[in-house]
Amino acid sequence: MPVCTRRCLPDAFDTLGPDGPFAAQVPGFKPRQGQREMARKIEQVIASDSVLIAESGTGTGKTLAYVVPALLSGRKVIISTGTRNLQDQLFHRDIAQARRLLGRSVQCAMLKGRENYLCLHRLKQATAANDSSRARELQLLKDWAAATRSGDRAESSDVAEDSPVWMDVTSNADNCLGGECPDYERCFVNQARREALDADVLVVNHYLFFADLNLRMEGFAQLLPGADAVIFDEAHRLPETASDYFGSLISGNQIAELCHDTRDEELKERSGVEGLLLQGRRLEKLVRDMRLIFREKPGRFSWQACTGSEAFNDLLEQLENELGVYAGLLKEAAPRGEGLASCWRRAEEIQARLRDIAQDDAATIRWVELTRRSFLFRMTPMEVADSVRESLVASGKALVFTSATLTVGGTFDHFQQQMGLDSAQLAQWDSPFDYQKQSMLFIPENMPDPRDRGFVEAFSKLVKSVLQVTRGRAFVLFTSYRNMHEVEARLSGQLDYPLFVQGRMSRSHLLDAFRGEPNAVLFGTSSFWEGVDVQGEALSCVIIDKLPFESPGDPVLKARCTALEKQGVNPFMQYMVPRAVIALRQGAGRLIRDNQDKGLLVLADRRLKTTRYGDVFLRSLPPMRRVDDLAPVQAWFGA
Ligand code: SF4
Repeated sequence: MPVCTRRCLPDAFDTLGPDGPFAAQVPGFKPRQGQREMARKIEQVIASDSVLIAESGTGTGKTLAYVVPALLSGRKVIISTGTRNLQDQLFHRDIAQARRLLGRSVQCAMLKGRENYLCLHRLKQATAANDSSRARELQLLKDWAAATRSGDRAESSDVAEDSPVWMDVTSNADNCLGGECPDYERCFVNQARREALDADVLVVNHYLFFADLNLRMEGFAQLLPGADAVIFDEAHRLPETASDYFGSLISGNQIAELCHDTRDEELKERSGVEGLLLQGRRLEKLVRDMRLIFREKPGRFSWQACTGSEAFNDLLEQLENELGVYAGLLKEAAPRGEGLASCWRRAEEIQARLRDIAQDDAATIRWVELTRRSFLFRMTPMEVADSVRESLVASGKALVFTSATLTVGGTFDHFQQQMGLDSAQLAQWDSPFDYQKQSMLFIPENMPDPRDRGFVEAFSKLVKSVLQVTRGRAFVLFTSYRNMHEVEARLSGQLDYPLFVQGRMSRSHLLDAFRGEPNAVLFGTSSFWEGVDVQGEALSCVIIDKLPFESPGDPVLKARCTALEKQGVNPFMQYMVPRAVIALRQGAGRLIRDNQDKGLLVLADRRLKTTRYGDVFLRSLPPMRRVDDLAPVQAWFGA
């Protein structure tokens, strides 16, 4: 194997080549030119502290294309993934395998947000509360705490992933006692952070990375300064994550938790401050009242719309006043113990944020998010490009942004503008799949406009006839729950194949059930458009109802579009279309996952053919053979 003379080590290109350890030791591994080139490019970027945006089509093998140069680089590299599941997969599978094959002792670690680790202090508190309904789970957690090395809840199989008990035994930045904690030395969160700081290659997720970058939430700002390079996989998600984390929020739950924790501390410390507990109850009632006045189902509302209501303004004012009183009482109680002092600091912080949200500021979008039981007051930056430039690009580290879907209509402009990465190097590796042979794109003639009343009925008929041809084996991806349920109701009892519908069981169970049944059909909304990998015949068809435009009534989208309009930019073409293109590419990307896969993509939205922006979508899809009639589809499947 050729050897790099500079470091006397094989380079990433050769490591992934026909004479490298992967080809020699991994059954079925085939060297791929795109993967090797990408690995070489990333190796250069890491060595030269440059910035790279790289799109790498499905099947290129991009994970190894960045893992191998990261492990070989001899530098400190952070790899950030889109979700915690991907983080686990990358760390336990890809990195573990690559490290073994490379035979190099590179120190690797994984770090998640603190809510993923068991908090020993809160476990003790929850146990001391003697609640018989949770006694069994708490005992299981105590046993597990004694056995686990990491305290990572993903490794605990005895207590269900979605059990409410986790809320009581994990910490957040508000209630962690930090250095004052009696369990500080054994704390799993701190142990994970220490390992993260010592690691050569550290795996995080985007949420943690940006929380850390913004010095909020995690209260731990040491990740980036210690690294030489950061590689972001699933980078198409970054504008959204950055938006969330460069903003701020106050939630009803935060206030309720503060009152709950204050009560616990007061019962323990007995500060004797008159009215403290009563004031907490008053605040809790205000929080409940605030949710109740909305009446609406969960959703997103502009701040302006909310402050148009007198009842909302009254409650907001009361909340500010009562929080002020509470903070004053907590200040008196604080000298009794660190727990109460921490509650006082939290009350002051919430008060300050409440004051911020009352300020009108053109750079910030203020809005309200309603969950089923609570509310969040949110402040989201109008744009994140400047913040990314200042906090990330200006750091001078090597940065790699990669995903299978970064371009729109063949250019990176949209991603670059959103992220402030104007001077980055750009690279693109196409998928090695033969889309002309492996796939077919069916855009039916004569479908009504998706905004017309008759659309759902026509779409239901279309789904039924397509499924007969493909014999099930399909994902039907919807842009709304309403459409999904309506189509389900119309097709009830009419399909000859097992039907799985989102919402009936957890996402992972639904996927397992789909994989376990031949000829199954799955109906899903946005969470099935991304990060789902079903290879082989089980998934031979993806049907999409509409172009995935976001709701124009969304307060954040609306505010951004208005701001663009004021700058003379066409918000629809420059903002909404590109975002919908990325989403469509993700949805369509579920179809062909392997070079043996064969599949049909059905797009039922006639606007692809009747509007001028339809072409941007079509140019952004892989080069599939296009038909507008079911006959060639029948012939193709028959063959
Ligand atoms: S330091 Fe914080 S997270 Fe760790 S055990 Fe104590 S309270 Fe829990």
